[in-house]
Amino acid sequence: MISRLTPVLDWFIPENIRASETDVPMVRHFVMLHLLGPLMGHTVTAFLLMQLSESNWQFWVVEACVASFFLVPLILRQTGSMALAAMVSVQTLVGLSLFGSFWFGGISSPLLPWFLIAMVLCFFYLYDSIKYALIGITLQLATFTAARLLSGNFPQLVDPAELLLPNVFSILAALTYMTVMCLFYEAVMRVSLRLEQETIDQRGRVAELRHAMSAAEQASKRKSIFLAKMSHELRTPLNAVIGYTEMLKEEWIERGEDERKAKDLDRIHAAGRHLLALVNNVIDLSSIESDRIDLNTEPVVVRDLADDVIATASPLARKRDNKLVLNMPEDLGTLELDALKVRQSLLNLLSNAAKFTTKGTIMMTILRSQEKDGDWLTLEVTDNGIGIRPEALERIFKSFSQAENDTATRFGGSGLGLALTKRFTEMMGGTISVRSEYGLSTSFTIRIPAIESSLSERKVA
Ligand code: ADP
Repeated sequence: MISRLTPVLDWFIPENIRASETDVPMVRHFVMLHLLGPLMGHTVTAFLLMQLSESNWQFWVVEACVASFFLVPLILRQTGSMALAAMVSVQTLVGLSLFGSFWFGGISSPLLPWFLIAMVLCFFYLYDSIKYALIGITLQLATFTAARLLSGNFPQLVDPAELLLPNVFSILAALTYMTVMCLFYEAVMRVSLRLEQETIDQRGRVAELRHAMSAAEQASKRKSIFLAKMSHELRTPLNAVIGYTEMLKEEWIERGEDERKAKDLDRIHAAGRHLLALVNNVIDLSSIESDRIDLNTEPVVVRDLADDVIATASPLARKRDNKLVLNMPEDLGTLELDALKVRQSLLNLLSNAAKFTTKGTIMMTILRSQEKDGDWLTLEVTDNGIGIRPEALERIFKSFSQAENDTATRFGGSGLGLALTKRFTEMMGGTISVRSEYGLSTSFTIRIPAIESSLSERKVA
């Protein structure tokens, strides 16, 4: 029955209240009481009318007040204010019961029990503005008392002996009304208890998740420390292997040994260097993850850094007959940069460009720009090599990820360079992005804050 009534009740509930899970049952209850109340009130007034020899204006005031409760849900819908609707309802009910009692039977009036209902409604719905509600009720009570004192006695519009039946009916109606209120109150309490329990459960779950997260973070840090230590231990013997192969090769060439043997040594040397580069990347990545790497900024002359990077990358570019071009203004000033990280990031991008491009052009562009959010240094490496498929663009910044399944077999590499470059860039407060047309070109862009060095300011001065 109630579920069938719900859409009707909800029609009166304004949008702002409908959003709250806790308020809706209470407001539904309020609307329901205001549709039910006037129906009961009219039966009381009908009994009253039967006892009156003829209807008078006092009766029609009481009748109008009872009917006016039908308007309360509309006031709620129109104003969206539960406090206002409840205030109108409580004050009208107080006025109705006092006015009705004054004219129809005094303290034995069938309308007096509704004063108690008004008080219950007041504490139930107006807890936030109880002060104003009580002031209103007190004023009405004072008017009632003053009228009683001035008139000397209650007017006898109806014979008190005739009020027995309306009284019994009114008390029954008030009891029914109170029972409905209590039932709904119990439902409201159940909802709020359930919500409270859910909140407690959620809090418990959040605490568990936090615990699990901190355990996972600890484990990840321990893994990174382990990797960093392991890789460090690998680096020493690897350097020895590389060093000895270089020495052996020189010796063998001097002794005029078989060329095939020298080629084998070259292979060992190349494999050793590859492994060393891999180990170095693992050390750097795991150092970042275990927070053991810091940002070391110093005044850096951008042009010198760029020339140095180009000089280092030139032999790599030449291996596949690529042209390496530097595109930047002659002087970009002196900036506060972590030179090692910028250098390593650019070399990672340039060595990739050199690896994936044959007989093409690799261009490194460096620019400074002033934007709304500050001064930025943009470092871009563009090539016209094999390109990257759109679906692989996201993946390539993850550790041990390559664009294609056969990249490692065709070009070598381990998928760590870009992951490391991204971490370095983020540590420097910047971003890295990539654009590529598969089969045509690739362009990586690093953007980092350009903080003018105080040294350069001094130089200018
Ligand atoms: P690695 O080069 O050691 O494989 P990276 O993390 O540096 O690892 O690069 C990840 C992958 O991104 C590469 O394997 C390659 O598939 C793709 N990639 C990076 N740079 C380029 C480029 N300039 N052109 C085409 N593919 C690229």
